[in-house]
Amino acid sequence: MTDDADGFRIETDAVHAGQDPDEETGALMTPIYANSTYEQDAPGDHRGYEYSRTGNPTRTDLEANLAALEGGEYGRAFSSGMGSINTVLNLLEAGDHVVAGDDVYGGTHRIFTRVYERYDLEFDFVDTTDRDAVRDAMGESTELVWVETPTNPLMNVNDIGTLADVAHEYDALCAVDNTFATPYLQRPLEHGADIVSHSLTKYLGGHSDVVGGALVTDDADLDERIGFYQNSVGATPSPFDCFLVLRGTKTLPVRMDRHCDNARELARWLDDHEAVSAVFYPGLDSHPQHDLAAEQMDDFGGMLSFEFDGSLEQASTVVSETEVFTLAESLGGVESLIEQPASMTHAAIPREERLAVGLTDGLIRVSVGVEHVEDMKADLEAAFDAAR
Ligand SMILES: *Cc1c(COP(=O)(O)O)cnc(C)c1O
Repeated sequence: MTDDADGFRIETDAVHAGQDPDEETGALMTPIYANSTYEQDAPGDHRGYEYSRTGNPTRTDLEANLAALEGGEYGRAFSSGMGSINTVLNLLEAGDHVVAGDDVYGGTHRIFTRVYERYDLEFDFVDTTDRDAVRDAMGESTELVWVETPTNPLMNVNDIGTLADVAHEYDALCAVDNTFATPYLQRPLEHGADIVSHSLTKYLGGHSDVVGGALVTDDADLDERIGFYQNSVGATPSPFDCFLVLRGTKTLPVRMDRHCDNARELARWLDDHEAVSAVFYPGLDSHPQHDLAAEQMDDFGGMLSFEFDGSLEQASTVVSETEVFTLAESLGGVESLIEQPASMTHAAIPREERLAVGLTDGLIRVSVGVEHVEDMKADLEAAFDAAR
């Protein structure tokens, strides 16, 4: 057991990295340091902590754990995934240009266009599966390429190595939102990314009971700048939230194995189902970037979407009728969730635009949980019957 977990496999790091037993008591679990301030022996002479926005021992352990999982040197935790994304934008200056995927997470699109365009940052949203489209969008002032992979909800897979190379040709940073894959399946720093961003709310927390975010890098200078904004802006997580995420990361590998097995089985079953006209899952041979996914990822994850062969209303009935799948936004918890992008997460997009990018009326997204996959199939079968 060591803070410097180099040499251990991810299953071992998940349980131990950053979490030495408490020196004084031997307590195995990192305590919740519910504490705002710290004694100093003389002004400025402290034991590493002054004030809990700046640093807190529970958060330190979480940050070390997350860094080890991503195979990075430095981790920083935030009060939400949006808090971590905000911090990446804090690294930029007015006039800087950002190239991002045209199917990024809705909250990411919102903070880019509705918050930071007001501060004179410029954004271009392009098909990041098309390297030439990305290259065409790059310019002198481009300082950041923002990538998600797989993407939401159509599960497009982006080539991290290629996009990092294009970013670096222009001296821009490449940041990857690794929320969907998790470090158990994909480690963007290994492919040349500069920053990995997470919503800890999803698989890393894993139990739908906490909201959090994180950034991981390998670059000391970048980490210092991130730490400056983390402390200056103050979107830091509470010690209790850090404890909950640490509890979650311990079982990340075992949970992800089940998520992947269930999603693979469910994707095949849906693919053969006459009520389903298309399935979007990187693990299927028919997925347009299946080979890339097989190379870049260790497995294909627990998220998939499919097109129910019916109207918006019929697909609404499907998502309303399921019992094993709970109708809810979010993803990555042990419980299976279902949602309809056209009327929920992507409802703000005008219908024509929505259809043009493949977000059809019948599209249904599921976060495949760890329940028994046969119960999931029976649940969907009954909901399909109710809708037809
Ligand atoms: C949920 C999510 C976010 C935002 O994270 P919050 O914890 O909800 O603030 C960012 N990116 C992706 C891919 C997400 O799924």
